[in-house]
Amino acid sequence: MDVKINYSNRRVRTVSARLVKGCLLVNAPATMPREHLRKSIDKFKVTFERRRLKEKLNSKRPLAEIAARLSDRYFDGKLKISSIEYAPAQNSRFGSCNHRDAFIRISHRLSRMPEWVRDYVIVHEMAHLIEPNHSAAFWNIVSRYELAERAKGYLMAAGLDMKYDSDK
Ligand SMILES: [Zn+2]
Repeated sequence: MDVKINYSNRRVRTVSARLVKGCLLVNAPATMPREHLRKSIDKFKVTFERRRLKEKLNSKRPLAEIAARLSDRYFDGKLKISSIEYAPAQNSRFGSCNHRDAFIRISHRLSRMPEWVRDYVIVHEMAHLIEPNHSAAFWNIVSRYELAERAKGYLMAAGLDMKYDSDK
């Protein structure tokens, strides 16, 4: 990512940045210590990279369509999800589900795994809309997905040291 810094002598107190055609345009106070500025720019880079990755992930595979298909097949089309998306910063959990808002997030790492493993995680999160905890009733619902056990084994073997959503 190219970086262009504009040092401003006017009353600019904080650093701001925007991404224009892949180039990070930074507006910084001229008096700011260079080390501080470097750290600020690094933060902006991370933020913009994540945003870019998120847009890329979520444009490539329409997770909403996949979820609708899985809802039809395993939940009689009765589950309503308000939103489902890949989360680029989600590295410690395979997925997460906001029970109240029916908002599901899937770790970006799943986008690089086989589709049947990704689908398992989506079914898992969808099942949480019915059963919030990892209860026997919950696993009973998850087992509707034929490859659930294989997918669990796959994720375990992937050795990513990641957890499920509500494991505490
Ligand atoms: Zn879970």
